[in-house]
Amino acid sequence: MGIKKVGLNRNVQPQTLTEKIFFLDFMKGLKTTIKHLFRKVITVDFPFELVEPAPRFRGVHGLRNVDGTEKEDFDAWVKKLKIKPPEMGETRCIACKFCQAACPVPEIFIIKAEKLDVPEDHPHHGLKVLSQFDMDLSKCMFCGLCTLACPTVCIIHTDVYDLSSYTRRGWVLNKETLSKIADDFIARRGKEKYDEKSHWPDWQKIWDEADTARAKAWDNNPPKLGPNYADQQ
Ligand code: SF4
Ligand code: SF4
Repeated sequence: MGIKKVGLNRNVQPQTLTEKIFFLDFMKGLKTTIKHLFRKVITVDFPFELVEPAPRFRGVHGLRNVDGTEKEDFDAWVKKLKIKPPEMGETRCIACKFCQAACPVPEIFIIKAEKLDVPEDHPHHGLKVLSQFDMDLSKCMFCGLCTLACPTVCIIHTDVYDLSSYTRRGWVLNKETLSKIADDFIARRGKEKYDEKSHWPDWQKIWDEADTARAKAWDNNPPKLGPNYADQQ
């Protein structure tokens, strides 16, 4: 149903006398408006109303902490990167920077690990801990490549979508904030996302192959990134 246009364009038919007298075009428009008045509303009155995105929604990132559900090769990755074995509740991030290497905009990340300052006879001598993990989400396109590259399933997308900020600095999230976001997300929707009955098994299936390929790639050619890669040596 179209509304007849009135104008000087020769291809447009002028309104008939009946249409002019009875406002037929206006009535057609009004009919459409009234029809939509009784339809189910699919938009929400944000920020007064919030929606719950699908579990696979690629929202604000989170950094997962160790919670006993790590993959089998988690310890091997920790050892390989010479990271102090994390305890329960500490970050799963091993500062491998695979997420940064996979990201089309690597400037989003600042990832640093520092050697522990402990005496030579300490069991953690020579090992490192994650000291900085910042993400500038103002540059992120939420493609998800970083999450697929992470060997420890540390960096994930969550269902958080409200990134509004009065300053650009507000879009830069540090490791503490990212950990809180992941903890909150896993507490609310972890089962839904990682439950075997959910639609995630397909996503999980690619891990075995991807991990094998990733481990091989690391052994053959460890990634060398920007200047702050030096702290990995
Ligand atoms: S979602 Fe994409 S653009 Fe954003 S940080 Fe991850 S890899 Fe980079
Ligand atoms: S890929 Fe995962 S473990 Fe490696 S630096 Fe990124 S978040 Fe940390």
